[in-house]
Amino acid sequence: MLFPPNDWLPQAPLERLPLGWLKIAGIEVAILRLDLIDPLISGNKWFKLTEHLKTADRCGAQGIISLGGAHSNHLHALAAAGKRFGFATVGLLRGHPQQTPTVKDLHAFGMQLHWLGYGGYRARHEAGFWAPWQTQYPTLHPVPEGGGGLPGARGCMQLRAQVCAQLGALGWSDYDGWWLACGTGTTLAGLVLAEAGEHTVYGALAVPDDHGVAEQVEQIMEESGVIAPDYQLCDASRGGFAKVDSLLLEFIEHTEQASGIPFEPLYTGKALLALKQQVEAGKFAPGTRLIFLHTGGLQGRRGFNP
Ligand SMILES: *Cc1c(COP(=O)(O)O)cnc(C)c1O
Repeated sequence: MLFPPNDWLPQAPLERLPLGWLKIAGIEVAILRLDLIDPLISGNKWFKLTEHLKTADRCGAQGIISLGGAHSNHLHALAAAGKRFGFATVGLLRGHPQQTPTVKDLHAFGMQLHWLGYGGYRARHEAGFWAPWQTQYPTLHPVPEGGGGLPGARGCMQLRAQVCAQLGALGWSDYDGWWLACGTGTTLAGLVLAEAGEHTVYGALAVPDDHGVAEQVEQIMEESGVIAPDYQLCDASRGGFAKVDSLLLEFIEHTEQASGIPFEPLYTGKALLALKQQVEAGKFAPGTRLIFLHTGGLQGRRGFNP
C-alpha cells in the first residue's frame, strides 16, 4: 500500500508561544507544532509528500524515488513513511558516502541509497536526469527534491484548516498572518493558496537570495491560477544556508528554556530570530496575532552540534 489508510493526516497541536519580546511588543503568536505530528515522520515534509503519494498510488507505483542531502529532512520523512506504510523507497544522495545520524536512519528504515557525487547531483534539473533511474526502478514514482512543486504546495494547504479548528481553544476568533521558514518556498506557497488572500503569509528565507525562491513561488502561483496571492519574503539566512553563528545558537537556547519548545538552527531557529528582529523594528502593530509554523527538522539537528 502506497498511500496510508485513508487520510492519515495527523493533527499538529496549536500552542501559545510565551516569549518576553513578543509580550513587550504586544504581539501574540501561536505556534503550529508540525514537529509533534509523529515520532518519526516529522514536519512540513510529510504534508509536502501527501499529494505526491496519492499520484504515485493512482499511477500504480510500488514506491517512491527521490533525492536530498546527507541531513535531508525530506528523505528522512519519506523513508520513515515507506517503512510505516510498507512501500519501497530509493534515495539519491548529494556527495560521497558518509555516515550521518540521518543516513543511519535511512538505512534502518530500509531506503536504498545511491550516492551521486556533487556533479551528478547538480545534474538533477537537467532533462534526461530521471531516465536511467526510471529504467532501473520502473515501478517507482519520482518525487522532486524536498517534495516540491505544485503537488507539494497542495499537500500543505490542509495546514490552514488545522489552525482554524484550534483557534477557539486559544480564545482567538481570527489571526493576522503566518510566519514560517522557507527553503524552496513550497510550504509557503501552499499556505498562500489555502488563504486565497484572507491572511498574509510571511516567509523567512533560510537560503540566500540567489536560490530562486521568489521565482519558484511565483511559478506555483501561476500554475494554480490564484488571484491576488498575499505573501512577503524576507531574508533570514544569516549569510548562507546552514551558516550558524553564536547569536543564533544563544537565541535558540534562550527560546527553548523560555518556551520548552525545541528549534533547530537551519530553518525554525532562523525564522523565529528573523521574526524577533522584525517585531523589534516595529513591523507589526500591537495586538497583531500571528501563526508561527514549526516546520520540524529536529532530526537533522543531530548532525549539527557546533
Ligand atoms: C524543508 C524545510 C523547510 C523549508 O520548506 P520549503 O517548503 O522548502 O520552503 C523549513 N523548515 C524545515 C524544518 C524543513 O525541513
